[in-house]
Amino acid sequence: MSLPFPLNPSLGNVPVYQPGRPIEEVAREMGLEPGQIIKLASNENPLGPSPKALAAMQHVLANLHLYPDGNAFYLKQKLAGQLNLPVSHLILGNGSNEIIEFLGHACIAPGADVVVSQYCFAVYSIVTRLFGGNLIVAPAKDHGHDLEAMLAAITPQTRVVFVANPNNPTGTLIPGEAILRFLERVPSNVLIAMDEAYVEFMENPLDLLPLIRDNSRPNLILMRTFSKIFGLAGLRLGYGIAHPELIAALEKIRQPFNINAIAQAGALAALEDTQHIALTRQNNLEGLRFFTAGLDKLGVEYVPSFANFILVKVGEGQRVFEGLQKRGVIVRPMGGYQLPEYIRISVGTPGENERCLKTLAELLGRA
Ligand code: PMP
Repeated sequence: MSLPFPLNPSLGNVPVYQPGRPIEEVAREMGLEPGQIIKLASNENPLGPSPKALAAMQHVLANLHLYPDGNAFYLKQKLAGQLNLPVSHLILGNGSNEIIEFLGHACIAPGADVVVSQYCFAVYSIVTRLFGGNLIVAPAKDHGHDLEAMLAAITPQTRVVFVANPNNPTGTLIPGEAILRFLERVPSNVLIAMDEAYVEFMENPLDLLPLIRDNSRPNLILMRTFSKIFGLAGLRLGYGIAHPELIAALEKIRQPFNINAIAQAGALAALEDTQHIALTRQNNLEGLRFFTAGLDKLGVEYVPSFANFILVKVGEGQRVFEGLQKRGVIVRPMGGYQLPEYIRISVGTPGENERCLKTLAELLGRA
């Protein structure tokens, strides 16, 4: 059947996002109990949400008949305090995915070019196409961003350039010096969307906040999320940090109640739970060490990672993904990212990591 009315033509070019498979879905399909399955597919926090966030969220349940604070006053105050800048530099989104979509509304239209790196986060291309923009893909170097190639790909029509540091799905990191030189060289009429979804996993990340604080880079937006180190992926909350004029423009696009009351309370408490953040960072560092040492021992190649996941070269990625899934381990196949020989494994708890590596070794015949 074809619809009897026209759809926006740009929809014809929009790829469908393929999320990590939910535990319940795999359980139904494989005839397994959900409790037997581990999910290392979506770069979530294996330690769960912060206990402080859980308690704070319980508190707001009785008031769910009321609309949330449309400006998320307390959450924004807290964030602004931690980031040491005024709230006028902040916008909250329903996940940082929504911030990416805001950028599409604000900056991308038919005829606009958008520059990304090969092996970049899928939502950049989805949003670009949704708004009728042309996606220009700069070839990767050693699986990571080639900033020279990205600069060379910028045209007079370029409106946005997306850079994720660390990058998903490769886990690669661009050195700080190179980022700073890149920021100098991108023309001021091109918006640089710097995606820092995984920045909190690093011990000494490049701090770009001074460039926002002193308003010296009105063409720079940093994007962060509560889905990763804060363990609140199910709440859907992310934020953008940028020049107040850009924030004011994006605020016109934002729906009044995009951040629900539970999310506001949970995120506020999670920001204060420094212990949970530190434990998560430590678990991740140890998990990455476990995987790299184990994969080295097995003679299996991987891309060194600065995030909370690791890209592993397994040969036939789809077959290995399916084999792991049958054995109750959900990872992410990478065919959709033009990396068919790879799977991406999110770091789990020590027990989950062991089970995943052991099952992988068996499947690859290296146990
Ligand atoms: N950016 C990157 C690089 C990501 O990997 C993700 C999550 N997979 C996101 C943004 C979106 O995160 P969320 O919408 O959950 O905040």
